[in-house]
Amino acid sequence: MQDKPLLAVDVDGVISLFGFDETPSGPGYRFELIDGTPHVISVEAGPRLDRLSTTFELVWATGWQDRANDHLPTITGIGPLPVIEFDRSGPVPERFGSAHWKLAPLDAYAENRAIAWIDDSFDESCLEWARERESLGHPTLLVPTEPQIGLEEAQVEAMEMWVATIGAGYT
Ligand SMILES: [Mg+2]
Repeated sequence: MQDKPLLAVDVDGVISLFGFDETPSGPGYRFELIDGTPHVISVEAGPRLDRLSTTFELVWATGWQDRANDHLPTITGIGPLPVIEFDRSGPVPERFGSAHWKLAPLDAYAENRAIAWIDDSFDESCLEWARERESLGHPTLLVPTEPQIGLEEAQVEAMEMWVATIGAGYT
């Protein structure tokens, strides 16, 4: 059986929302106190990620690190998941120059597998990384979110279509 494509999932700006001018209200939001800090949780993000878990192998790619598994399974129904480990204290590896701090560990984790990555803060180095992987034949999809909105329905549908287009013959 082929491996599923990976799906690297950020938390802040994808599940936990921020950047509002006013406190949001309505059925799409839930307020949670996590380690003493209030968070605005996207109610839809959990079920959307759960749908994606049928076609992708989910992994946390977040500065929350192990705290993601401490809190998010209860709040969102997602996880526990594997955690890509980031060392934010050291310099970003030379190979990526002005790379995004998640890039090198994420690249190492993905190896040559197909991967989609949901995040609210891609920079040019991420786009370059995705183009480079694509050119090597490793399907790569960046899914940028708005931090006040998080993971959207249309993005879930686009990711499901993407999996269908890359087919079963890679990994
Ligand atoms: Mg983020």
